[in-house]
Amino acid sequence: MNIVIVGGGFAGIKTALELGNKQGFEITLISERSNFEYHGALYRSGTGRSPLEVVIPLRDILKRTKNVKFAQDKIVGIDANKKRVVSETGNIYPYDKLVLAMGNVVNYFGLSDMDELSMSLDTIGSTIRLRHKLKDLFRSPAKSVRIAVVGGGSAGVELAGELDHFAQLVAEKYKTPAKKVEAVLIEGSDRVLPSLLPQASKKALTRLQKLGVRVLLNTQLNLCKPGKACLDSGDLEVDLIIWTAGSHAANFYANHPRLFAMERGRVKVDQYLHASGHTDVYVLGDNASTPYSGMAQTALLDAKFIATNLLREQAGKSPFWYRARKPIYAVPIGPNWAIIQTPTKIISGLRGWIVRRRADLAIYRNFEPYKQAIKTYRKGNHLADF
Ligand SMILES: Cc1cc2nc3c(=O)[nH]c(=O)nc-3n(C[C@H](O)[C@H](O)[C@H](O)COP(=O)(O)OP(=O)(O)OC[C@H]3O[C@@H](n4cnc5c(N)ncnc54)[C@H](O)[C@@H]3O)c2cc1C
Repeated sequence: MNIVIVGGGFAGIKTALELGNKQGFEITLISERSNFEYHGALYRSGTGRSPLEVVIPLRDILKRTKNVKFAQDKIVGIDANKKRVVSETGNIYPYDKLVLAMGNVVNYFGLSDMDELSMSLDTIGSTIRLRHKLKDLFRSPAKSVRIAVVGGGSAGVELAGELDHFAQLVAEKYKTPAKKVEAVLIEGSDRVLPSLLPQASKKALTRLQKLGVRVLLNTQLNLCKPGKACLDSGDLEVDLIIWTAGSHAANFYANHPRLFAMERGRVKVDQYLHASGHTDVYVLGDNASTPYSGMAQTALLDAKFIATNLLREQAGKSPFWYRARKPIYAVPIGPNWAIIQTPTKIISGLRGWIVRRRADLAIYRNFEPYKQAIKTYRKGNHLADF
């Protein structure tokens, strides 16, 4: 069976690894970047830690497989009748089964110029640019720095909680007085971490306030001007705006409206994760409109699910139905502290931090043998050359 997988992230790589040593499968993994990126560690790279805990070369991950070919390419078109996808360089990839796992892109909700007026934390490239900008601000002669972080989901909360600590690291390294950092976290709903339970949100809020983060709830950011965050409650002078407020499925899908139906910015899928009406096309991970889409754990679950069904199909068995699984939320807020929400309990503080770091290691174990995973994990203990 000729399987083409588009996207070298959690879902795409996991699918390739699950099928990569099985007989009867020829797999081509196509991704626009040559590396896997662990987004859960981006906030750490943005605030001084080594980017080597975020980035793992795909060729290193795939070398354990026998029948996976890797192509660095960007897919822009699909012909579902002829069963092939086409890349921006004109390469054509025919398939028997197509697995689409292209991840999300930043959503500015139509706020014009926001991409130019703010910085983001969505790829290692944007994160390193952000780190440089933060370093410059923290080294500047100004006595204080005000940073607006838009979005009180996990990415915004994680980042806001580390800004003051990074200012101290910069001051130590460059032997300059530490800046007073005023981090302002702007959230449109009535609590931070709105996907978690209200008790967890409350603990997170208390922790953020203890770290000196000013949290503005029920507050929307409207059109912005350079140096200003324009809020419902009035304009706020800021040195930097960081946008973490939303994402939607890769633009590829919206460009093919006759093939893909969208709901809530994601692709509608049936009970087998087929793009509705297309039994040879699977959509996984952040791209699929499933109950817990938007989490790495869901992307991994989706990959295992469709790999199992493809093996069953090859063996002439009927496919399983997809069953969403509640993820475990693990959100670090400032040094050595995290909040964990499992289906049965909430843990916070240093214990939570230890659980979160174990979860980081478990993520690497999906893609690397134990010793290599430990090495990647330990890279996160080192500071970047900022
Ligand atoms: C800042 C941040 C922090 C996060 N923290 C956590 C966390 O702590 N825990 C958690 O569970 N989840 C977290 N997430 C979410 C998690 O990263 C995603 O749910 C997960 O990456 C989804 O996996 P995926 O395979 O669907 O997409 P991705 O991992 O995003 O992979 C998509 C891949 O497709 C490639 N691609 C895109 N378009 C094309 C194209 N046209 N052609 C070829 N290749 C293409 C991309 O380059 C990328 O390699 C976080 C996300 C962010 C942004």
